[in-house]
Amino acid sequence: MIPLNEQNLQELKETCEDLGLKKFRAKQLFHYFHKEGGQDLSQMTTLAKNQRQELLALDLPKVDIEQVFPSKIDKTKKFLFHLKDGHLVEGVLMDNDYGLSQCISSQVGCRMGCSFCASTKEGRIRNLTPYEMLGQVYEVTKKYGRLHSIILMGSGEPLDNYDNVMRFLDLLHDENGYNLSYRNMTLSTCGVVPGIEKLAQENKPINLAISLHTPFQKDREKIMAVAKKYSLEDLFKAIDFYQEASKRRVSYEYTLIDGVNNREKDALELKKLLGGRLHHLNLIPLNPIQEYKENRPSKDHVRDFQRLCTDLGLNVTLRREQGGDIQASCGQLRRKYKEGSLV
Ligand code: SAH
Repeated sequence: MIPLNEQNLQELKETCEDLGLKKFRAKQLFHYFHKEGGQDLSQMTTLAKNQRQELLALDLPKVDIEQVFPSKIDKTKKFLFHLKDGHLVEGVLMDNDYGLSQCISSQVGCRMGCSFCASTKEGRIRNLTPYEMLGQVYEVTKKYGRLHSIILMGSGEPLDNYDNVMRFLDLLHDENGYNLSYRNMTLSTCGVVPGIEKLAQENKPINLAISLHTPFQKDREKIMAVAKKYSLEDLFKAIDFYQEASKRRVSYEYTLIDGVNNREKDALELKKLLGGRLHHLNLIPLNPIQEYKENRPSKDHVRDFQRLCTDLGLNVTLRREQGGDIQASCGQLRRKYKEGSLV
């Protein structure tokens, strides 16, 4: 059976029937899990004790905030979430003018193998279940207030955990629960082509972000293992298919690596690739990690590249750096914590 807190209302109604509970209990349960953010049925007071008994025996996934790392220079916070089996995943809460935005992890580890990313260094340990993603939202909401938006940009590749991620998005969207608009959800992928094609047919107006990082196939293969499996040509075919179906602008993340992807020829090729498409190019200066020897470009070089792109007519922004003092790129925090080297 799907865990109770991962069932949609219809499924819960059927479960309640199977358990001999009245159908209206389904809505109460859904409300408890997804509106109140409840994780402990023994605390659910609308259910009588004898009704709770059977439900209490069911094993439910759970998420707890293990530790919060607040920035001292802005309102950004980083989190370590504890899962029931002892694994830890990270999250980040950003305080923007328009409201709170949370970065969500979709897997423990990752198997995509991008050379500059810490999350992938130990491979994929396991997928997160739908509730393990919802719980990240609910626990943070209970502490800091309602979110304006979520971005699936924490550890993991969301399209490598497709079904769980879709169920997570649907439950978060449900009007009987958290009721978050799809338009306030962003899914970021390194370019899993079949996943993008599938997403195009979902008819969910979420935002799609593609981790592009270079416009050249050969260079992409060097820094992103996924490029060997899915070429840039196939990736853009899938993106065009997605855009045709969704009519939505696609974002491109571009981690700036000095001398690797911030040359003039990179900007010129980006223009060829993105110029004719509805796009938003988001530049992210590299957060150096131990296992990757390249550097982030200097501030001047970052600005130069941004100007170059702007002058070429690209729609480009530089990601505002938040929580600079607690800066740890994805995956670093979890590992440092495990090694006991956090100060
Ligand atoms: N797997 C998904 C989402 C997780 S990564 C994806 O690849 O899109 C979220 C973003 O952070 C991606 O664009 C990723 O390439 C970028 N990123 C990873 N490591 C980074 C680092 N060390 N410095 C800067 N950006 C990094």
